[in-house]
Amino acid sequence: MTRTVYVNGEYLPETEAKVSIFDRGFLMADAVYEVTSVLGGKLIDFEGHAVRLKRSLDELDMQEPCTKDELLEIHRKLVELNGIDEGLVYLQVTRGSDGDRDFVFPSLETKPTIVLFTQNKPGLANSEASKKGAKIISIEDIRWGRRDIKTVQLLYPSMGKMMAKKAGADDAWMIEDGYVTEGTSNNAYFVKDGVIVTRPLSNDILHGITRKAVLRMAEEAQLKVEERLFTIDEAKEADEAFTTSASAFVMPVVEIDGVQLRDGTPGPIAKRLREIYLEESVKEAI
Ligand code: PMP
Repeated sequence: MTRTVYVNGEYLPETEAKVSIFDRGFLMADAVYEVTSVLGGKLIDFEGHAVRLKRSLDELDMQEPCTKDELLEIHRKLVELNGIDEGLVYLQVTRGSDGDRDFVFPSLETKPTIVLFTQNKPGLANSEASKKGAKIISIEDIRWGRRDIKTVQLLYPSMGKMMAKKAGADDAWMIEDGYVTEGTSNNAYFVKDGVIVTRPLSNDILHGITRKAVLRMAEEAQLKVEERLFTIDEAKEADEAFTTSASAFVMPVVEIDGVQLRDGTPGPIAKRLREIYLEESVKEAI
């Protein structure tokens, strides 16, 4: 089925949607994005994604393409037009195109480019992958220093996923100065003696929308959370581990660098947090 997508004010069949070859998103990765999940035809934590988008735009002196209300309306309309029950809405805003290539930012007369499209993912909430759990490898983190801004510079994370696939794993966690930063497209956690450990927020990692919700829900469920730096060896010796992201929610991790955690099946805290997260966020979905 041909999707209906949104480009700069228009709803179009995906085959007719166009962006200039001079667009700075294309030429320079001068663009930010958000991915919002859809469950039961409703948006999960739209507010969190809209607030983070605004922050990413502000940090890069990029103009807002539209208001938050308009953004919500576009998201909802695309979900409806494409009949999405479970899936994702991808949103990208670039600094636009001034019809040439130049390192200097164009003037504010150059309007940002805004593109949104849906991805249909039936069974997202109940995925086979989440029942099996993920095998991960560790790789060096060689990304830039502003990982708190959600830019489309995804080449290294994409290479990281390929390194994982080549090694027979599902994903990679990145390591900088001896400590785990995050997964290629998720935040990283381990659990030891009932305490959930994850790296504190800084410019070194993306401030995950799912991370924020899951940590709040963990505390509400009387689980202990420690935000501190941790090594991959600590994670390998953990009782269990998991990742969080808007597209995979809470994903149990069952193997790290070939070392099996527990008996190689998802741990009880990861499973419980996944259930709580799905239940709570579906209740609050809009
Ligand atoms: N870290 C990175 C590097 C990511 O790409 C993502 C997903 N975009 C996350 C963490 C998780 O963030 P969220 O929960 O907002 O999807």
